[in-house]
Amino acid sequence: MTELRIAIVGFGKIARDQHLGAIAAVPGATLTAIASRNASLPGLPHFATIEELLEKGPPIDAVSLCTPPQVRRAQAAAALAAGKHVMLEKPPGTGVAELDPLVAMAVEAKRTLFATWHSRHAPAVEPARRWLLERRIRSVHIDWKEDVRVWHPGQGWIWEPGGLGVFDPGINALSILTRILPKPVFVTAAELAFPANCQAPIAASLTLTDIEGLPVTAEFDFRQTGPQSWNILVETDRGRLTLSGGGRRMAIDGNTFAEAPDEEYRELYRRFVELTATGTSDVDLAPLRLVADAFLLGKRTIVEPFVD
Ligand code: NAP
Repeated sequence: MTELRIAIVGFGKIARDQHLGAIAAVPGATLTAIASRNASLPGLPHFATIEELLEKGPPIDAVSLCTPPQVRRAQAAAALAAGKHVMLEKPPGTGVAELDPLVAMAVEAKRTLFATWHSRHAPAVEPARRWLLERRIRSVHIDWKEDVRVWHPGQGWIWEPGGLGVFDPGINALSILTRILPKPVFVTAAELAFPANCQAPIAASLTLTDIEGLPVTAEFDFRQTGPQSWNILVETDRGRLTLSGGGRRMAIDGNTFAEAPDEEYRELYRRFVELTATGTSDVDLAPLRLVADAFLLGKRTIVEPFVD
């Protein structure tokens, strides 16, 4: 197998927490360089920017963009123009339409553009999808609440336009929702709470449905202290499905029966290696469209300023 030589761009929290280990564990993937303004890794070629990497760096086949969403489109375009495959952290963009020209560039260049949704690879997501296929779904409720100070310390970009605020984790729940439900859902109402000093919401309540009127609700909140919730409850004609731990555990009527180690990022890199073998792209914008519609439809309230 030819090794896919990958450069990580944006060596921050998720690059360190997940991408490094996943690349090291996946056959056919090799970390070759890092482009990050303020961070590097001993023993690896380092460049401050992606432009410098592409101009002066060692030969690479692909970049994995772990930067904040606001700067990724330009980086992806530069990498595709230089003939590299591109893996995008979630969310794939700051807006929906900005992905179209990138997909077109990837097709034209016969290179892979992979918009990743790591939560879809959580171990209980596929078993949940299969279980639901054989049932009549009556309602869905998402509870996705975490302490922003614990999980996103000092990440000012999250509060800027395009940073998504509480939808940064919330979109993970929506990526699972759009994978496990048999029919597409859409937003019918939303309430967004913006801290007085921020450009992105700290909490959001969404009402969604599908063509048959399925009731779906979602509560996202960045102000959760104590126990954290990353849960999706689905009531069906034959039992209640609970996905908890961000999709890591599945229970039916309270009895846990699917639990497995987290391999989300290994799965992403396995898929990336597979996609690049044929230069195929994988860009599903369904979760981002729901977030965009929540911003379009959302009633806004201003809440107390957020201080990190
Ligand atoms: P982060 O800790 O802020 O890291 C991003 C890195 O990108 C920064 O350390 C910075 O490195 C670089 N960067 C920041 N602003 C930049 C700019 N304007 N231009 C160029 N480079 C810039 O953020 P993160 O948590 O790793 O999140 C990055 C992406 O991964 C986000 O889209 C997030 O949704 C996604 N993600 C995060 C998590 C998580 O648990 N944190 C989980 C899954 C997915 P330099 O200063 O060295 O350039």
